Amino acid sequence: MKPLFSLLTSILLITPLLAAASDQAEWSYQGVKGPSHWGDLSPEYSTCNKGKNQSPVDISNAVDAKLKGIKFDYAMLVPENIVNTGHSIQVNIRSGGAITIDDEKFTLKQFHFHSPSENKIDHVSYPLEAHFVHTNDKNELAVVSILYQPGGMDNLALVPLVNNMPMKVGDANRLGAKDTELFERNKTVKKYFRFNGSLTTPPCTEGVRWVVMQSRPGLSKRQLLAFQKALKHSNNRPIQPMNARMVTK
Ligand SMILES: [Zn+2]
Repeated sequence: MKPLFSLLTSILLITPLLAAASDQAEWSYQGVKGPSHWGDLSPEYSTCNKGKNQSPVDISNAVDAKLKGIKFDYAMLVPENIVNTGHSIQVNIRSGGAITIDDEKFTLKQFHFHSPSENKIDHVSYPLEAHFVHTNDKNELAVVSILYQPGGMDNLALVPLVNNMPMKVGDANRLGAKDTELFERNKTVKKYFRFNGSLTTPPCTEGVRWVVMQSRPGLSKRQLLAFQKALKHSNNRPIQPMNARMVTK
C-alpha cells in the first residue's frame, strides 16, 4: 500500500503545478491568437495592448548620446541545449555569459531567433534576428539583438546551431561548450542602438533594456532556410509605435 500511497501523493502534488503551467493562455503568430489579439487572450497579457513602450520598433533618427561601451564576458559560456519551442528556436544557457550595462551585471539566460527580424533599422527588415536575453539580480531584463543580413557564406557561429537544429516542435538537442564558441566575445561594444522596450511575446512585459548591435553579420541562404524550415512560420511581432521614446546610439 505504501508505494501506491506515495505515488498518489506525488500525483496530487504535481497536478496543481501542471495546471498552473497550462493556465498561461496559448498565443500564436497568426489568426485569432495572433499578435493583434494577444492583449485580449488573458488579463496577464493586457500590456501587449495597453503598453506604451512596446517592442519591436523601427529604429530611425537615433540621437547621438555618446553611449558608454557594453562589456561582454561570454568567455566561459556553456550552453545546455537547443530547443524548438514552437514559437522560436532557443538556446538555453547553463552558465557563463554576462554583460555589464549601466554599471550593472546581467547574466545570459538564453538566446533565440526570429525570422524575419522583429526590429527594423531605417524601415529595413532583415531575414534573421537573434535575441540574447539577460537578467540582473533584481530580475530586470536586458536584451541584446543581432540582425543578420543575407550573404553568400555560412556564418560560422551559426553552423553548430544549424547542424543541431531541432526540426519538430518540442524537440531539444544537447549542445556542448564548443557549439557557442564563436558567440564568445570578451570585448566592449560601442556601436549599438539603445532604447526602452518590452518582451516581444506575451506577456509583453515592459522595462526591458534593449541593445541592438549596429554591426550586422551575414548568413547563408542554406542557414536561413534551416531556421525557416524549423520555425515553419514567421515569428516576428509587427512593429510597435515609438510614442514618447527615443533611440540613442
Ligand atoms: Zn525574441
